[in-house]
Amino acid sequence: MSARDDLAGHLSYYRDLGVKGVSRDSAWRDRSPNGVPLPLDVPPPTVGPAGDPAAGLGALREFIGVCTRCKLHALGRKQVVFGVGSPSADLMFVGEAPGADEDLQGEPFVGRAGQLLTKIIEAIGLTRADVYIANVIKCRPPGNRNPEPDEVATCEPFLAQQIDLIQPKVIVALGTFAAKALLKTDAPISRIRGRVFEYRGGAKLIPTFHPAFLLRSPERKRDVWEDMKKARALLNESR
Ligand code: URA
Repeated sequence: MSARDDLAGHLSYYRDLGVKGVSRDSAWRDRSPNGVPLPLDVPPPTVGPAGDPAAGLGALREFIGVCTRCKLHALGRKQVVFGVGSPSADLMFVGEAPGADEDLQGEPFVGRAGQLLTKIIEAIGLTRADVYIANVIKCRPPGNRNPEPDEVATCEPFLAQQIDLIQPKVIVALGTFAAKALLKTDAPISRIRGRVFEYRGGAKLIPTFHPAFLLRSPERKRDVWEDMKKARALLNESR
């Protein structure tokens, strides 16, 4: 009997026993509980004890490790910038990718744009410790260029897992890039900002302008303030 027949026999034995979770069907290998494709070496979203998001996030961080899965590890990034804040936050902010300051400090949004984000969070009566902040990709692209599709494809499932573990009620997507990644849309941020979307049925998602854009175009801060009031209202509603 060939190794292949051996494996087929083994799988059908388990199927007959009623064991779920193994199949020869290629659709099974691409499975994901939430429709986001997972790279083959990514664990299922509920890593760590169920109902313990802090432990789950810790396990996910450990799983990511130093990370050499995409080319960014060889292009000058210093470290993986995982995410920061409350593991049980009701409100989550998602940015694009770490910049130079974040790469140095290992924390998202700590540079000039980050300081503005902190003020935006405080403007709705919260602190950075109350919310969770993460990026679509976890390593700094060289020269702060835009993340490339292969880098996003490799890293994005980790963001999906962070969201699944934290289960925020409201997600604010900061800028075109985060909105595009989370909503799978090519619509420009100027067209979709301030609208409320369902994120995979589990959270309300509001795209708004990226704080780095606000540093260049301060006249748009008023728009972000409107969007944040909407986020605050959705949080209050969900209590
Ligand atoms: N811009 C982002 O999108 N993310 C950061 O962490 C910092 C700046």
